[in-house]
Amino acid sequence: MSLPVVIVGASLGGLRSAEALRRSGYAGPITVFGDEPHAPYNRPPLSKDALAGPVSHAAVAFPQRAATADVLWRLGIRIESADLEGRRVRTADGEDVAYRALVVATGLRPKRLSPRTVGLSGAFALRTLDDAGALSDALVPGARVVIAGSGFIGCEVAASARQIGCQVTVVGSAQLPMLGPLGAALAEGVMRRHETRGVSFRMGTHVADVLGEHSVEGVRLADGSELPCEVLVEAIGSVHNTEWLRGNDVDAELGLRTDSAMRVLRADGSPWADVFAVGDVARFPNAIYGDTPASIEHWNIPTETAKRASRVLAMQLADDPGLPAVVAERFAPVPSFWSDQYDIHLLAFGLPAVADRAELLAGRPEEDCVYGYYVGDHMVGVCGIGMRSEVMKYRDEVSRYGQVPIGESA
Ligand SMILES: Cc1cc2nc3c(=O)[nH]c(=O)nc-3n(C[C@H](O)[C@H](O)[C@H](O)COP(=O)(O)OP(=O)(O)OC[C@H]3O[C@@H](n4cnc5c(N)ncnc54)[C@H](O)[C@@H]3O)c2cc1C
Repeated sequence: MSLPVVIVGASLGGLRSAEALRRSGYAGPITVFGDEPHAPYNRPPLSKDALAGPVSHAAVAFPQRAATADVLWRLGIRIESADLEGRRVRTADGEDVAYRALVVATGLRPKRLSPRTVGLSGAFALRTLDDAGALSDALVPGARVVIAGSGFIGCEVAASARQIGCQVTVVGSAQLPMLGPLGAALAEGVMRRHETRGVSFRMGTHVADVLGEHSVEGVRLADGSELPCEVLVEAIGSVHNTEWLRGNDVDAELGLRTDSAMRVLRADGSPWADVFAVGDVARFPNAIYGDTPASIEHWNIPTETAKRASRVLAMQLADDPGLPAVVAERFAPVPSFWSDQYDIHLLAFGLPAVADRAELLAGRPEEDCVYGYYVGDHMVGVCGIGMRSEVMKYRDEVSRYGQVPIGESA
């Protein structure tokens, strides 16, 4: 029996990789390792509806497709290390597993305020179904909740907690919540809507200390003021899960760097022919943004990168002579994200965060509206509250952008 394609990470990127391998004609063995005990499930509901009640796997599980029924799912097993030269991975139990090709789909985990808050009663981070279950139990009416971090997850949890009847304060280091991805005008509008519903914001500061020895009793902010609370949610960003690749010739700084075929790169920039990365863990060049490698943590990217990696891998395993032409194809997936907070439905395409200005395109800022985001005259992103069909109109324009690398202005 031939060696399997081993996929590490049993979530959206891992699942879509297995599916896309089958669709691309690869019929050989596939083994997926996942350190969570659950079959792949959808994470976006975890910060939204799921927090309101008991969270069940069935409610968020991805459907299993017939084409991947023969995939071997090895769940609850952590991959501890890899030997890319020797083409094998090792589980936490010391089992060595040889592979024909490896797909890295290990995503992210939440950054924590300090090692002390990990396991401290009342302190929560949110990435997994089990995290959501634990947080949901703590979000009871009247609970005083401090959310450290004012990005999407922080604000979504704020909305969910407020709807449950918690007293909610969001602490953020920027001047406005979600400022990067939304721009000042839209971010200000969304913050006002949160305030109208009773959420307090402490912006331009951060949680400097957590009070309470055995359980959370409050937080001290950088300005010395204290906020008493029973629940602390740490939503301050993420770390790429790449430590298990340590000791191999890869560039894992700020995500695992790949070429545009999603092949993992050595430090000298040459690709490993049989190692791919997909989803949140990958830092890949996107032609829309001048091929500057970036890791984009939006839901559609695991699917797009899995399709790309699996097509290239399947051709390679089949010795398909068309491979060089496919590797050379332009890879330009349009990032897309959405966020639901109360009745605010945000939808965006592109990367508004790289823009140097925003412009109102439709609607009114305090109601449903659409903003365009620009670098010079180029539209790099579009984001709307409601007005879905109006937002969709600009998707193509955003995907045509390709002149200015991320981080530079026209
Ligand atoms: C609470 C929440 C809400 C979100 N809401 C939205 C939203 O509204 N809109 C949007 O666009 N995006 C949203 N996202 C982002 C979206 O869910 C992610 O982009 C997507 O889950 C990334 O998929 P992935 O497979 O790349 O990584 P992940 O989903 O992180 O999966 C990686 C898997 O690999 C496992 N793993 C890690 N290391 C190992 C190892 N060594 N061995 C074995 N297994 C390992 C992890 O435990 C995990 O199961 C949200 C994310 C979260 C957490």
